[in-house]
Amino acid sequence: MSTLVTNVTNTSTSAYANAIIPANIAWQSDDSGNRVPVSGEFGDVYFSHADGLAESRYVFIQGNQLAERLVNLSAHQCFTIAELGFGTGLNLLAVWQLWQQLRVEHPNLDTARLHFITTEKHPILLTDLRQILGMWSMRAPELAQNIESFLAVYPSLIEGCHRLHFEEDNLTVDIWLGEAQSSLAKLATDTGTTSTADTETGSKPQVDAWFLDGFAPSCNESLWAETIFAQLQRLSFVGTTAATYSCAGVVKRGLQEHGFTINKVKGFGRKREMLTARVSESLPTTPTQDNSKRSSTSDNYHYIVIGAGVAGLMLAWSLANRGIKVTLLDKTAPLAGASGNPRALLAPKMTPLHHANEHLHTIGYLYSSRFYKQLNEQAKKQHSAPIIEPTAALDLLLKANIDSSQIGAYPDDLATTLPASKASELSGLTAQDLTENLYLPQSGLINPQALKDVILAHPLIRFKRLEVTQIDEQKDHISVSGHNHTEQSASTITLQAVNVVICAAFESHQLDERIFDCRKIRGQLSWFTPTAKQLGSLPKLPLKYGGYCSLFTPKAGDAKLNPVAEGESQFLLGASFVRNDIDTSVRADEHEVSRDKLITAIPELDAIIPSDTQSWQARAGVRTQTPDYHPIVGQLTGSQRLWVMSAMGAKGYAFAPVCAEALADIMLGAFAPLSSEMMSKLSPNRKRLQTPLTS
Ligand code: SAM
Repeated sequence: MSTLVTNVTNTSTSAYANAIIPANIAWQSDDSGNRVPVSGEFGDVYFSHADGLAESRYVFIQGNQLAERLVNLSAHQCFTIAELGFGTGLNLLAVWQLWQQLRVEHPNLDTARLHFITTEKHPILLTDLRQILGMWSMRAPELAQNIESFLAVYPSLIEGCHRLHFEEDNLTVDIWLGEAQSSLAKLATDTGTTSTADTETGSKPQVDAWFLDGFAPSCNESLWAETIFAQLQRLSFVGTTAATYSCAGVVKRGLQEHGFTINKVKGFGRKREMLTARVSESLPTTPTQDNSKRSSTSDNYHYIVIGAGVAGLMLAWSLANRGIKVTLLDKTAPLAGASGNPRALLAPKMTPLHHANEHLHTIGYLYSSRFYKQLNEQAKKQHSAPIIEPTAALDLLLKANIDSSQIGAYPDDLATTLPASKASELSGLTAQDLTENLYLPQSGLINPQALKDVILAHPLIRFKRLEVTQIDEQKDHISVSGHNHTEQSASTITLQAVNVVICAAFESHQLDERIFDCRKIRGQLSWFTPTAKQLGSLPKLPLKYGGYCSLFTPKAGDAKLNPVAEGESQFLLGASFVRNDIDTSVRADEHEVSRDKLITAIPELDAIIPSDTQSWQARAGVRTQTPDYHPIVGQLTGSQRLWVMSAMGAKGYAFAPVCAEALADIMLGAFAPLSSEMMSKLSPNRKRLQTPLTS
């Protein structure tokens, strides 16, 4: 070992179960005098002292013959790499750069995708990672741009899957934080879908190549345990390869005993040998998967999505980014229903940290706040208004299932409790007791109209107004018929596709009776134009108090959805909650209900919020809710081509983006960013949905 320059940059530990403990980085000098990071937990180097990048390219890229295999991908094919030990992300950066280069040289890769799945128990803190990757930006300028893009979306350090998109490169990265064994166990291969012969639909996800990059077995047995090799076996198919720099007996035996044929080859630099491995025979626990099945003609890539609320829009987006041509149908217009409020507040109902990795609201919030921020770039290119306005939010914890002592377990960039004086300064509230509070720095206001504009501008998404009256599933296609009320002719229009997804909220059940008939809850969001004097005294950031309220300034385009004038500040509050009511007319008494709720929670606002609500505006919609509050996402029983994504309740803007990713993945035979346990909780066929509602 070289001179150890011990410079511990982080010593944080956490007493909370499931809390992620970040890597404790120390520094050494490599053979050329460069500083290289060393793991304080395991006492081993993250990458070779000779040249980490060259080692990564040699051991993992060449060892898995990636250049040759990636070049030969067919249209729409997705290649999946899974890594044990994300560390500094150098392997990802090396393979990403290769992929970009191949896509430039081989236009046939235009619609092919790369899915990089990685696991990490002790992720490196962003400040340390900036330092480590900053050095690589200088040493290997070809990585610099990707390093910047990656650091910009580096996730909060919470257990579970964090999906990152690099859409220009058709690259999806899933970072599963936590113990590798349990992360791999969460990857669902049996998604309960039924295969259709002509598309990828229903095919089981598979790993094509493994990067086995745990520290040396002598420093870290956990990544070379029998249970890990059993997961490799479960997730691999004939043709799957693996590569590792380690030639230790435990590695050789582990691979051999779990279906791999191993091959010793020359190691990197001064290392004598390393291992490559391949599954050459059908594994006992997994069916043989023929990769050639994954190529298909472009006709197989037309899907229909029924319902253009936030669920339908997000699903169309996820499918279109996988090269699927989407016809998005709605009987009225995009966002005509409950998703069309002038603004939606993205702020989760938090749960104690040990539940967070299986709590859909937290998972959805983590994913969607990053996703909407990335989409802001797209909006900027299109000269559209921003999709998320990063306002942060303050929850007064009046109706929460978490207290400030439990909030302390979360990373501060995600959730924290502010000192009461700071909470008062940020909110502008002066008389309220703010000792208990939850501050959400990543929260923001979503602009549904801007989101719609960006999604509908996707070249593969076409919106069509159609009131669907019939869906007919055939062996080789599925057709959707209905009336288009904008056209003069009274004739019925019929469209064909290979798959249809129903995203029609409470009307989904009318389109197919197999979909649970959900609870229907009317909700009205009210807003008014404050006077200049009121404006100065209203809360300065969005507040949650059982309901929510916020100031917002309408942007160009907002008036297409709601009666608001561009640039004229509004204060919104709501929403009401009326069970079994599907009337969507605006009601004066519900303005009062929302006002009362706000001033009961925050009495000092009684003097500021006008009591005459006559000039207030509002929008009412119907939320669709299951008895267990989880959405319905998956394939319908007995069907091969009919799917559903619905019942988002009042949380569509938090749930829909990640649910859309999960559904698009299972439809196309890729690994979803949700655990298999969560996928069963969302299943249209789950037990809780077998019994109809009684009221
Ligand atoms: N691939 C990395 C890179 O490109 O920088 C280097 C990986 S480093 C050699 C090994 C990584 O495995 C470390 O980041 C370590 O924290 C992680 N690790 C070790 N044991 C683990 C476990 N049981 N589960 C998940 N990650 C683990």
